[in-house]
Amino acid sequence: MLKTGKKEFWFVVGSQHLYGEETLLEVKKHAQEIADGLNESGKLPYPIVLKDELAVSADVITTIMKEANYREKVAGVITWMHTFSPAKMWIRGTQLLQKPLLHLATQYNESIPWATIDMDFMNLNQAAHGDREYGFINARLNVKNEIVVGYWQHDAVQKQVAEWMDVAAAYTESFNIKVARFGDNMRHVAVTEGDKVEAQIQFGWVVDYYGIGDLVAEINQVTEKEIDATFAEYQELYTFELGDYDEQTWIRRVKEQAKIEIGLRRFLEAGNYSAFSTNFEDLYGMAQLPGLAVQRLMAEGYGFAGEGDWKTAAIDRLLKIMAHNKNTGFMEDYTYELTPGKEAILQSHMMEVDPTLASTKPKIVVSPLSMGNREDPARLVFDGKAGSGVVVSMADFGTHYRLLINEVEAFEPTEAAPHLPVARVLWKVKPDFKTGVHAWIEHGGGHHTVVSLNLSSEQIMTWAKMVNLDYVLIK
Ligand code: MN
Repeated sequence: MLKTGKKEFWFVVGSQHLYGEETLLEVKKHAQEIADGLNESGKLPYPIVLKDELAVSADVITTIMKEANYREKVAGVITWMHTFSPAKMWIRGTQLLQKPLLHLATQYNESIPWATIDMDFMNLNQAAHGDREYGFINARLNVKNEIVVGYWQHDAVQKQVAEWMDVAAAYTESFNIKVARFGDNMRHVAVTEGDKVEAQIQFGWVVDYYGIGDLVAEINQVTEKEIDATFAEYQELYTFELGDYDEQTWIRRVKEQAKIEIGLRRFLEAGNYSAFSTNFEDLYGMAQLPGLAVQRLMAEGYGFAGEGDWKTAAIDRLLKIMAHNKNTGFMEDYTYELTPGKEAILQSHMMEVDPTLASTKPKIVVSPLSMGNREDPARLVFDGKAGSGVVVSMADFGTHYRLLINEVEAFEPTEAAPHLPVARVLWKVKPDFKTGVHAWIEHGGGHHTVVSLNLSSEQIMTWAKMVNLDYVLIK
C-alpha cells in the first residue's frame, strides 16, 4: 500500500524506589519479558520498544513523554503499572504527551501462587493496586486513553492491543493526510460541504484545491509507451468485457483511463497527496470522468470520494491506514431492498467502487455515464465481499463535525445483474433494517461513506475520542 512512515510504540513501566533496587531489577526483567513476548506473538502490527528506564520519578516520566512527542516514529505510548507508581509523578508527563496512550492493565503472573505467596511477592506483583492509582490520575486529567485489561499472553488482550495500535498509527498519520480536490463540491449538494480549517485543526488534514486544468496538463504529458505498459497490466489483472463496442473503440476508451491514472498518480506524488476528490461537473479538458483510474489508485491505498467530497476522501485514507488497506473503501448508499426478510442496501457509486472490496475478479467495462457529458468511461465491475464491518460518514453541523457509525453485515449477491455497469456491494444494517436506517437518517448521516470489513466500531470510536469528535453509534 501507499507507504506511511515507520512506526513503533513505547512501553513505559511504572514503579517506585520504595521497594529497593532488587525489586526494580526484577520489575525490569518482567517488563523485558512482556515486551519480547508481545513482539514475538506475531499479533501486533507494530513493534513495542521497552524504555530502559523505569518510570520511578516525575523527571524520568516527563523526559520520556517529551521524547515520545518529538520522535516522529513513535505512534503511541503503552504504560504498565508493575507495582504501585504514585501518580503525582505522572501528572506533568501525561499532560505533555501528545500521542495516543494505552494503559495495559496486566500482571506478570497469570495465577496467584497460593502455595508460595508471601508479602515480598505481593509487593512485587501489585498491578491491581498500581492500576487504580494510575487510572485515577488519567481520569482526573481527562486523558482520552484506552485501557486494556487482562493477562498479556491471552489472545483477546493481544488482539485488543493490536487493534488499538492500528487506530493510534492512523491517528498519528492523520496529521500527514493531504487531500487534493480537483474542482469544488458538487453544486447544490449539502452534506459534502464542510469547514476545511476546522478539519485541519481537529483531524490534521490539509485540503488543497486545484483547478482541473492543472491535472489535465499533467495527464497530457503521459506518453503512449507509458499507456501501453499500464494497459498490459490491466490485461494481466482483469477480465476484458467488450460489450457492444468494437474492439478499437473499447481499447481507446480504456487507454484513456490508463492515461488519466498515470497523470493523476504523478500529480498526487509530486504534491505528496494521499487522498483526492473529483467532480463530474468539472471535467474541462478531460475526455472521461476518471473511473478505472480512480479505482486503481484506491487499490493502492489512496483515499477518494466523488463530487468534491474531501471529508470522505480523507476518512477513506485514514481508515485505509487503520485497516492496512484491506477491504476498505469509499461507498454510497444507492438502492433499498425492501422485501420482508431480505431488507438490505445496495451500495455502489457512479463508477468508483474500491477494488479492495472485490470478491470476484474485476472486469473492465466501458459504458455510458448518464452524467458528466463526456465519452463513455471505463470502470472495474465486480461483486463485493461478504463480512461484518462498519460504515462511517462525517458531516459538518455548523458548530461541530459529527461521525455516524453503523455496524453492517455485507453479503455476496445471489442474483446476477447483467445490466448494471458498476461494481456492487450489498449489506444489511444493524441492529435491523428499520432501526438502523431510521437512526442514520435521523442523525443526519450522509450518503457518502467509507466502509471497512476489517475494522470494528470500537476502533472507530477510539479514534473519534482521540480527536474529540462527536459520534453516534448504531449497532
Ligand atoms: Mn456520490
